[in-house]
Amino acid sequence: MTSVLGATAAMPELPEVETVRVGLVHLLGANAVIARVQLTRADLRLPIPPRLPARLRGQPIRAVRRRAKYLLFETPAATLLCHLGMTGTWRLAPPGDERAHDHCYLHLGDGRRLAFRDPRRFGLLDLIEPGAEARHPALAGLGPEPLDHDAFSAAYLAARCAGRRTAIKPLIMDQGVVVGVGNIYAAEALHRAGIRPSRRVGTLSRPRLAGLVEAIRVVLAEAILAGGSTISDFRQAGGASGYFQSAFRVYDRAGQPCLACGTTLRGRVLGGRSTVWCPRCQS
Ligand code: ZN
Repeated sequence: MTSVLGATAAMPELPEVETVRVGLVHLLGANAVIARVQLTRADLRLPIPPRLPARLRGQPIRAVRRRAKYLLFETPAATLLCHLGMTGTWRLAPPGDERAHDHCYLHLGDGRRLAFRDPRRFGLLDLIEPGAEARHPALAGLGPEPLDHDAFSAAYLAARCAGRRTAIKPLIMDQGVVVGVGNIYAAEALHRAGIRPSRRVGTLSRPRLAGLVEAIRVVLAEAILAGGSTISDFRQAGGASGYFQSAFRVYDRAGQPCLACGTTLRGRVLGGRSTVWCPRCQS
């Protein structure tokens, strides 16, 4: 059985990170303990706190949570914060399985070893003291989770759109507005909602915003479900990632026919990101 948890083909987005989280929960099981932490370098994108191994030594992992695209390994002493960056993966690394770019090993109390590998080193490993999560620079200022029905609603989105002249696609990709809607899922959600990516936010009615909120939830939930079913049989050898290319309706399909109406999909750069839409289905 092998399992490499992470997306190595492209930047992981929220569904991929959630898939990694669920995979880690399965791997760790209940009662996992961090016997010790072994770092093989002092920094990734940012320095790794030198106190990290000592603080986590001997600590039980109470939960593995996710906030936006961050994984949080919660222990009584402190929380290990991890961002996968572009190429970060977690895997069980039995004796002898040391690979280039393994930057951190979590030696578990049951003798197993979890390895964090990140060849491009855009990832992050940090420590959060108890009670300090909301103030952590990476987490402070984040908008609501898109799957949180109470916090992320049409009314909320309408309030965030009020008085703004920006296009809708950059707005829903703004992590301060709602987290975890990256370029792929923004394009997919806008197609499903029938909204053109360049549409000014102030011109969208409340029902159309409600449709967009629902579409965002649906595309993310479908991707999480697809990833979850992939993870559950542990066939992701070699890091074949939780990316679900076949499910994309518009992303990376400019010049190809719209799957809904057959019209040729159009592409342009909007807010610095490539964007694809159907000129007939989306207005
Ligand atoms: Zn169409």
